[in-house]
Amino acid sequence: MNKLITRRRVLLTGAIATAAVAVSRVANAEGVKLALDDPQAMALGYVEDAATVDRAKFPRMQDGQNCVGCALYQGDGEGWGACSIFPGKQVAAAGWCNAFAPKA
Ligand code: SF4
Repeated sequence: MNKLITRRRVLLTGAIATAAVAVSRVANAEGVKLALDDPQAMALGYVEDAATVDRAKFPRMQDGQNCVGCALYQGDGEGWGACSIFPGKQVAAAGWCNAFAPKA
């Protein structure tokens, strides 16, 4: 009897964990693309293509930096993903802004 309950718990725990991951992925997939004319995006120099950063204006930017390499990026590395700086918005994996923080 106890083995049956334990097995059910294991299955239930696995199902809950799987559902949580699925919900997290859906949440990351949702949200609108961050507008380039969003005031905060403009203040941080956000661009959808890191190659287009105005380096005179944002000298922190270095070769090879982009959102997918940023610790604040929450996407899976393809296309668009959430960013903790811009809640509810999606930023381009190839993008960049002045809040860039390299992944550890
Ligand atoms: S904080 Fe990082 S992930 Fe977010 S927009 Fe700036 S560079 Fe991209």
